[in-house]
Amino acid sequence: MRVFKFGGASVKSAEAVRNVGEIISDYQGEKIVVIISAMGKTTNALEKILTAENSNIELLISEVEVFHNDIIKKLFPDSESKVYKRVNTVYAEMRSFISNNDMQTTKSYAHFVGFGEILSTIIINQYLNLNGIKSIWCDAGDLIITENKYVEAKVQWHKSIEKIKGKITSLFKDNDIVISQGFIARTESGECSTLGREGSDYSAAIFANAINSEDLTIWKDVPGLLNADPKFFDKTYKLDYISYRETIELAYYGASIIHPKTIQPLKKKSIPLYIKSFLNPKDKGTTVQQEAFADSMISSYIFKKNQVIVSISARDFSFIAEDSLSLIFKQLNSYNLKVNLMQNSAISFSICLDNNKELVRSFIADMQKIFKVRYNEDMELITIQNYNQEVIDELIGNREVFLEQKSRTTVQILVR
Ligand code: ASP
Ligand code: MG
Repeated sequence: MRVFKFGGASVKSAEAVRNVGEIISDYQGEKIVVIISAMGKTTNALEKILTAENSNIELLISEVEVFHNDIIKKLFPDSESKVYKRVNTVYAEMRSFISNNDMQTTKSYAHFVGFGEILSTIIINQYLNLNGIKSIWCDAGDLIITENKYVEAKVQWHKSIEKIKGKITSLFKDNDIVISQGFIARTESGECSTLGREGSDYSAAIFANAINSEDLTIWKDVPGLLNADPKFFDKTYKLDYISYRETIELAYYGASIIHPKTIQPLKKKSIPLYIKSFLNPKDKGTTVQQEAFADSMISSYIFKKNQVIVSISARDFSFIAEDSLSLIFKQLNSYNLKVNLMQNSAISFSICLDNNKELVRSFIADMQKIFKVRYNEDMELITIQNYNQEVIDELIGNREVFLEQKSRTTVQILVR
């Protein structure tokens, strides 16, 4: 048994879906769970509908409809194909959901954005069946169970594992391919929830863990895990082998290649992760695995732009001690602000955050009631794994360094 994951870019057009079909048919005779994201930028389009003016909603929904119908028309020449009826039912559900619910709640958000994955998986499952691949559609919401929170919900591990194991084993009796959705889940009370944006990788890892998959392959539009973002660098290297540990760190520091939660369920069962190109499926890609011997000594770079550094000190020049720290973190947690870097000195405590302006301003305002607070915006956080001085100097250039922190393998530098 294996698990494949195809993201939005790999199913963004009819041609892309055909390519996915070809990749799957290369593995004929194997049992594969295929986890799929919403097509192209559909999740963004659905998020936009949720915040749109009433007068705009119908237009935006019909854009989503036209986008999917254009793909369907190219894949299903027979206008009697049952795919049309299936997707029309979903479009109708979307409209009725909008008319009957308050779109401002996180509960509505989770329900509505999930329609993207429902559409993509219906289309791809029907397409595979039409082309002689025996696949079956399965609702991920029946299998991945989360806490009673709607967005970025934590997975109820034991319940989910039991459900996935049972269902997938039984579906594999009569089918080679099970098609299910990434990103979406259901709460213990049976409402829709999500695992957070870009969470489909994590969904795939949960399935892989549950069924003791031989491996997990994430099919991407890049040749594998690269040491830097090709958007910013002319010369990048593919890492052939990398350990779970180094990959978790890269994802944690902000490399956008896979969702940071993906590795842990794989590591627990030593399931290798292959990151491969759906454009060149025969190429080897990157293997992520247990062993550290293969850890790459190539330096990897990650940039986080739009950072803010907030420095907090006591009004009376006293130390920032444990009681103050716990107050600061409680407030950060209540705004769901994630600390990218922190440093404590005798009288001030500095933290670097993504500059989500509204939240950061509210946090600063709260802190100013008790402490003296200074902040600086428009900073960039550079993280280098397997660093050396030459690489550091090159990446900093002539920018001003505000904070620097080094461990044996990783250096983080905040610059402006
Ligand atoms: N479709 C969801 C998103 O765009 C989940 C995913 O792609 O992983 O965030
Ligand atoms: Mg996506």
